[in-house]
Amino acid sequence: MTDTPSNGRIAIVTGAARGIGAAVAARLAADGHAVGAVDLDARNCTETVEKIRADGGTAMAVGADVSDEQAVTDAVAAVTAQLGPPTVLVNNAGILRDDLLFRMSVSDWDSVIGVHLRGAFLMSRAIQGFMVEARYGRIVNMSSISALGNRGQANYSAAKAGLQGFTRTLAMELGRFGITVNAIAPGFIVTDMTRATADRIGVDFAEFEASLVAGIPVGRAGVPEDVAAAAGFLTSAEAGFVSGQVLYVAGGERT
Ligand code: NAP
Repeated sequence: MTDTPSNGRIAIVTGAARGIGAAVAARLAADGHAVGAVDLDARNCTETVEKIRADGGTAMAVGADVSDEQAVTDAVAAVTAQLGPPTVLVNNAGILRDDLLFRMSVSDWDSVIGVHLRGAFLMSRAIQGFMVEARYGRIVNMSSISALGNRGQANYSAAKAGLQGFTRTLAMELGRFGITVNAIAPGFIVTDMTRATADRIGVDFAEFEASLVAGIPVGRAGVPEDVAAAAGFLTSAEAGFVSGQVLYVAGGERT
């Protein structure tokens, strides 16, 4: 169930079933990309894909665990076969397994590092060849304000800080091929992920939101579209001289 893109701009967005990934997929489609919406289960991307199509865009749903090398290879092959070779990649898939260090299990550590860091590595490695061939590419990695440290998130902060180093390194390696690589580091964005955090710590979401918004200079929580707007710029052709950067989309929160 795919359409044929007419403009040759193919993007892959991971974790596109909901939250920030769904908003980024919609934004990239509105900007003229045919979008491969990747998530653990393709069926969960149905809403994302249908919304894009209803708005006149092109998208397909692909199921893959981004931390699984074979699944990544197959997902990229599926997008390439049906939409064309991707030259835009947004590594957005993410999970939380928060806990204080003394209670953090090895599996909490490994799964967070696996999805965020290994996932971004596998996806970027699988796609870079198409970008090199096209002498054009845009990679955006979803970091977080938690890269600067956040209590209860040793695994997540390490992964998000790691993504910043990964971003700068890919920018150095791939720049000569017309490929830019940047990171977006969102602050507090209202999604299922932040709702789950409030649930986990046993705080009503409205209270949780109010306490966080108190520390955000623009005086509101972020929404997925705030992050999608940044992704739209960083994946645009006109952003070709912006590379190796980390853009904090955090409402002015101190970084
Ligand atoms: P979300 O609502 O939980 O969505 C994350 C998506 O990623 C889900 O659809 C999830 O699928 C998918 N996913 C998880 N593991 C995957 C895997 N191994 N392979 C493929 N897909 C996978 O989260 P979000 O709030 O939109 O966050 C998106 C990104 O922004 C994450 O990298 C997150 O760390 C980052 N971020 C979020 C915030 C925030 O305040 N929300 C702030 C800073 C950074 P399932 O539903 O099947 O699990």
